[in-house]
Amino acid sequence: MNKTQAEKQKKVLFKKNQPACDQMGKQEKKAAFTLGDSYKDFLDAAKTEREAANKIVAQAMDKGFVDIDKLLNKKTIKSKPQKVFRLFKDKTVALAVLGSQKLSAGTHIIASHIDSPRLDLKQNPVYEDLGISLMKTHYYGGIRKYHWLSIPLALHGSIIKANGKKIDITIGEAPEDPVFTVTDLLPHLAGKLQEGKKISEVFDGEKLNLIVGSLPLGNDSVKERFKLGVLHLLHDQYGIIEEDFISAEIEAVPAGKARDVGFDRSMIGSYGQDDRICAFTSCQALFETQSPEKTAIALFFDKEEIGSEGNNGAKSNFLENFLADLLFLNKEPADNRNLRQTLINSQCLSADVNAAMDPDFKEVHEKSNAPKLGFGICLTKFTGVGGKSGSNDASAEFMGYIRSLFNRNKIAWQTGELGKIDQGGGGTVAKFLAQFGMDVLDCGPAILSMHSPFEVAGKTDVYMTYKGYKAFYNDQGNQAG
Ligand code: MN
Ligand code: MN
Repeated sequence: MNKTQAEKQKKVLFKKNQPACDQMGKQEKKAAFTLGDSYKDFLDAAKTEREAANKIVAQAMDKGFVDIDKLLNKKTIKSKPQKVFRLFKDKTVALAVLGSQKLSAGTHIIASHIDSPRLDLKQNPVYEDLGISLMKTHYYGGIRKYHWLSIPLALHGSIIKANGKKIDITIGEAPEDPVFTVTDLLPHLAGKLQEGKKISEVFDGEKLNLIVGSLPLGNDSVKERFKLGVLHLLHDQYGIIEEDFISAEIEAVPAGKARDVGFDRSMIGSYGQDDRICAFTSCQALFETQSPEKTAIALFFDKEEIGSEGNNGAKSNFLENFLADLLFLNKEPADNRNLRQTLINSQCLSADVNAAMDPDFKEVHEKSNAPKLGFGICLTKFTGVGGKSGSNDASAEFMGYIRSLFNRNKIAWQTGELGKIDQGGGGTVAKFLAQFGMDVLDCGPAILSMHSPFEVAGKTDVYMTYKGYKAFYNDQGNQAG
């Protein structure tokens, strides 16, 4: 075989490994940048799970989605609704576009999460030390503690006062707002204290305290007058007292807006892209899904970063409850057996990010199977730790279906493995949805600096993720499965 023939064979036999931009025309490249702009707006408006949930619901209502709980409270339901949503306890959302087929024939679900790692205020946060007012935090999710030192932080959250009234706060995002920060040790004095220590020992969770003020109230005969200074201001502004922090959820998150990254503006840098990148893209995909065959559902869970626990996490009964109500609204039997059939016949993309191979840390990846930034949406067959422990491990059949669906729809895709074997690992909501019997595949973009205050995503990947999700919603499903 000569060189030309061999090259020809190579084209036939080798798997394509092309950046997404090489698979896109001029129009699509432009569309990717336009979508990137809406995505940045979403990131700025949705820095916490509550903000994300409410933003998603507001957008859905704009698009004509109806609150399922309002419908269920009506005495008679005149006609079958086409588009419904549920906001559950301000933190979990489901959106559905009803299909032409019965629900029990199976639905198409895309499940993402809208919580991100951060610093939560403790329930007794305010104290003073050396003339400085501070607030104690307890970190949430997997953070590298040093990422949170010496950067401007904003406070977002809700406070339930003694009278039950809820106050929402956002401080540190408007240009004129003050910000907060956790201090770091100067290099001049870090030597003896930190040298030779393991990174896990150098940074102490109890030292992630926010600086929140330095002016006292009253003269020096008043004890704790610096703490009093801050509480006085908070009382003036919000009418809250110290005990109100007991019933508050206030999150310190990196202050500032999402930005374009690179001379060519081809990337987006922002906090919270894990996993609001999938929340945003699945939302957009669903909004553009009109009269599908299979009912199209987007789920947005809280608590993924701490193991999908609680009544807002993927381990809860949220999906079953929602589907039972959908069956009822769709005038199908809503009994347990039909609900089980609906779940078993459904197919699901667990929409979460993967770790793109980092040019500076290639050694933690296995390059034949690691995803790359800008190479399209990843099909991640398995996640987990060690011998795939804790992983959903999607079936070859379901992988085959999604692969051919994406090929048919010209979606740039790649495979993704989260790091080298035994390097570490992680999980997603996939396994909690798979327990219902449905096929589930982890499928989302790969990003750099995951779980940092400034995660980086490629605009073409955002676009291909949206396009892939849209193709899934608009397909009639895996016939072979
Ligand atoms: Mn995630
Ligand atoms: Mn995560």
